[in-house]
Amino acid sequence: MFELTTLEEYSDEALLDEIRRVAAALSGERLTQKRFLELARVHVTTVRNRFGSWQRALDLAGIAEEVAPRFNPVTRGAVVQAVKLYAQEFPESSPTVEKIARRLGVHRKTLSGKFGAWGDLLREVGLSPVPLGRRYTDDECFENIIALWTYYGRQPNFAELNQAPSAVGSKAYVIRWGGWRAALGAFIRHVNQPSVSDVLQTVSDQELPQTSEIVPSSAPRSISLSLRYKVLCRDHFRCVICGRSPAKDHSVELHVDHIIPWSKGGQNVEGNLRTLCFDCNLGKGAKTERA
Ligand SMILES: [Zn+2]
Repeated sequence: MFELTTLEEYSDEALLDEIRRVAAALSGERLTQKRFLELARVHVTTVRNRFGSWQRALDLAGIAEEVAPRFNPVTRGAVVQAVKLYAQEFPESSPTVEKIARRLGVHRKTLSGKFGAWGDLLREVGLSPVPLGRRYTDDECFENIIALWTYYGRQPNFAELNQAPSAVGSKAYVIRWGGWRAALGAFIRHVNQPSVSDVLQTVSDQELPQTSEIVPSSAPRSISLSLRYKVLCRDHFRCVICGRSPAKDHSVELHVDHIIPWSKGGQNVEGNLRTLCFDCNLGKGAKTERA
């Protein structure tokens, strides 16, 4: 069908009609100034000049927000909110300026630089600004510290993060905490803070007389990171039966074991936990006890 590329008249109503016509032609697609420029028979500047702004023209033409989102100035709060939502939906991915800009329906230039360094904004929201690759959780970073501490029988050093058996590289700690010393500080603070399950356990220990029926389901079977670290330190990162340690023999694997088994009502408390090597844990440890 042949169509005029210009309007027959340029009355207010004719311009508003043209906006409505283009909106309808887009059938659901977002009506932006750019699309209008491509499809309309009148220049977008004419519309802006006539009605004061593109937004006002949309309002007057009765175009719904869903069809033509009104670009309100992006506030810092809106950006922070978008970043938080993104982090919840994609915890393994990093919210880059591009991704958040797309989410807010604005150009990346609208965001970059406007709220200071993007990395600072992410840190403020509690995220680490990792541009590439996987983001580790605090727990994964701390578990790796315990594993290395057990392996070496002492506080691991920075270089050891980047060699086996470390599972989390030094970069992850530096990005998250700013440095290795700060990361170790965070780790120590974490293990010194009794976990919720440990606290619940202690409370139930005090409230329940020894004779009363123990309900194992009230506490998780897994031993918290902080409790495991305490037991390993107390036992000097050695098997309490055979005395072997990974520090002296890298083939030795240590576990924190329930003295009274969990299945028999054994509790997750320091007094009921001990460090055992894999062999002793299976009950076939070396008979020559060196401890
Ligand atoms: Zn052993």
